[in-house]
Amino acid sequence: MNERGSAGTLGSAEDRFQQVLGTLQRGMEAQQWRTWFRNMRLGSWADGQLKILLPNRFYQEWFQSKFHDRVRAAAEKHTDGPVQVLFVVEDEDGPSVNGTDGEAVAEPTPAPLFVAPESAPAPSPGWPDDLFDATPINPHYTFRDFVTGPSNEMAYASARGVADEPGTNYNPLFIHGAVGLGKTHLLHAIGNEFRRRFPEQRMCILSCEEFTNAFIHALGHNQVEAFRERLRKVHLLIIDDIHFLANKERTQEEFFNTFNRLHQLGCQIVLSSDAAPSDIPALKERLVSRFNWGLVTCLEQPETETRMAILTRKAHQFGITLPSDVVEFIAAHFRNNIRELEGAVQSVKARADIEGGVVDLALAERALAGRIRMPERKLDIDTIAAAVCAHYQVEAGDLKSRRRTRNISVPRQVAMYLARELTHLSLQEIGAWFGGRDHTTVLFGVQKTEERMRQDPRLAQLLGRLRDRLGAP
Ligand code: ADP
Ligand code: MG
Repeated sequence: MNERGSAGTLGSAEDRFQQVLGTLQRGMEAQQWRTWFRNMRLGSWADGQLKILLPNRFYQEWFQSKFHDRVRAAAEKHTDGPVQVLFVVEDEDGPSVNGTDGEAVAEPTPAPLFVAPESAPAPSPGWPDDLFDATPINPHYTFRDFVTGPSNEMAYASARGVADEPGTNYNPLFIHGAVGLGKTHLLHAIGNEFRRRFPEQRMCILSCEEFTNAFIHALGHNQVEAFRERLRKVHLLIIDDIHFLANKERTQEEFFNTFNRLHQLGCQIVLSSDAAPSDIPALKERLVSRFNWGLVTCLEQPETETRMAILTRKAHQFGITLPSDVVEFIAAHFRNNIRELEGAVQSVKARADIEGGVVDLALAERALAGRIRMPERKLDIDTIAAAVCAHYQVEAGDLKSRRRTRNISVPRQVAMYLARELTHLSLQEIGAWFGGRDHTTVLFGVQKTEERMRQDPRLAQLLGRLRDRLGAP
């Protein structure tokens, strides 16, 4: 059976596939789409069988367990009758669907579970090598203590995969993401798990800076060969913050050689970086391509629910309990990374220890006042109106009055807009300030201002300046 059929059939399969993608995309978070579905391609679609090509086994397993039903349902929307969905790994020899036999479903033969370099001697107990002890593994950075959500579940699962079957699945594993999103945590979790499962095996966990320094030291002391030998005896090599290699040509060269050798031996390599391989400045092309060999996965900023879960977990670890409004408050104000969230919990705990009181919202606000901008708490309509009046040369009384000439109504509506944006007041409360107007009038004023801003960039700029003057974000 020729599954590809004629060109015409394939064309229409591709069209239908695009429609399926559209259906899937509409039904999910943008982030989830980006993480998983961007890399999926049509293998073939004929005789009720849809083959989807995925970059590697990791995706295959993940799709099989998490997305199978969803993909099938989407596919069935765009065709008659049931659809059998197969997720196929597109390997380097070309997608397996190129074959005409039914064996095309990629069950890639996994490499042996773990291939230790034959030359590796049994680990000597007192290995006198500070290189291998450079970074002590942090015992608190475990998989169990890593809270997952859509922003990090792929990185988490791939790290787990590597720890469970090193050297087999994704080699190298490359985890990238901005600062404070959990790269070091995941790398150490792999290290902890590896040590637990394979206590006999050697591993080396280094920051890239340590790697560089050790190499430079070896260079300076004529010990490069010894350096290489030692490094090449490890079974798991973890290097954190590999972007540090940028612009270091000699170290890159050395790393390239080490990488190739270890990779050939089936040793697992795990790397982290603040950017994707191709975005690391001045990284040699051949290293970029090596880093892309395995699985590249990204940690993104955690979404609200994940931040809340992390806060609860961290509070528990620090020995305090946070009421839910405090959790929400912190999650709303600390969005960028997890280190910030930890810092916030620590501040709240410190404050609670000093004051000896219960942890409530007021205490959290006091504890974090210095670290967050809360203009909406400090700003009231009087302050906002004063800034608006100063600009338009009108009086607060004019804003509250019934006068409806344009020179009054425009500043009034601008003030309504800012009051809506920068205070916690309801439309009714804002209306009350403006001479007892009702909430629909306020809403109209807000909308009118938005409309004018769209039409007139100068008004948008003015509002930006007013916000600055008010100290609002
Ligand atoms: P990075 O190396 O990306 O800068 P880290 O791994 O040092 O970030 O993480 C910063 C802090 O946040 C660490 O204390 C880490 O334990 C914590 N952390 C990061 N991600 C998570 C998570 N998903 N769950 C729990 N703690 C996390
Ligand atoms: Mg780090």
